[in-house]
Amino acid sequence: MTPIGIMSAMHEELAAVLQALSVERRVHVAGRDFWHGHWHGRPVVAVLSRIGKVAAATTATALIERFGVDQLVFTGVAGGLGPGLKVGDVVLARSFVQHDMDASPLFPRHEVPLYGRSHFETDAGLSDALQRAAQDVLADVAPHVGSEAVAEFALQSPRLHEGLIASGDRFVSTTFERRNLQQILPEALAVEMEGAAVAQVCADYGLPFAALRTISDRADDDAHADFSRFIKHVASRYSVAMLSQWLKKP
Ligand code: SAH
Repeated sequence: MTPIGIMSAMHEELAAVLQALSVERRVHVAGRDFWHGHWHGRPVVAVLSRIGKVAAATTATALIERFGVDQLVFTGVAGGLGPGLKVGDVVLARSFVQHDMDASPLFPRHEVPLYGRSHFETDAGLSDALQRAAQDVLADVAPHVGSEAVAEFALQSPRLHEGLIASGDRFVSTTFERRNLQQILPEALAVEMEGAAVAQVCADYGLPFAALRTISDRADDDAHADFSRFIKHVASRYSVAMLSQWLKKP
């Protein structure tokens, strides 16, 4: 069976994924550790994406070229931009755009030169399957994160949102920048640093791609508060629960 590629954005998340996997082998390529294993009987290669568009594109390309994955799923955290997105909500990407791509006036702003487009869609079937898994997990998160985390991070009724995610090589942590992004990409629900790069690589190879991002901050002046605690206690647990729920379905 061809393996599924799983990319995690942060160390804590990968560690949680590796605990869920039965790891069989580690292969070191391009300065990265790729972990082969099985999860609910499905062959998987899990890897840390590393932060930023170039690092994520290298990781995705290695997964495809060296490990022959036939689909790729990315989990991580993101800053919420859209109205009504709270910390602890989850965004399922339906498409990606690079908010810092700008080759104007040669090409329209955000258009990737020579691709003729700015937006890269995720795979509908794969995303629908992850949507069901995410909804199952969000219906009751306490068993996954514990009641203390529910209270600490106010996770009483987390919601799943679906739509556009904007990626760029910048941790957005000022209200000024947040407003600017909202103005240039009013439909973007969340901002992060890798997804659009992986979506472009997967489009190049014709590979199904899907991405789930837990909102860790509001991409404003408070964006760094409790970031590491949130990843450890909430986001990494959400990711594992959602991936597990997805993989256990036949
Ligand atoms: N201070 C953190 C920085 C990590 S970078 C640290 O020291 O570890 C942030 C990671 O989370 C990236 O993988 C990015 O995709 C995502 N992310 C979360 N919130 C973000 C935001 N507001 N802007 C950009 N990326 C964000």
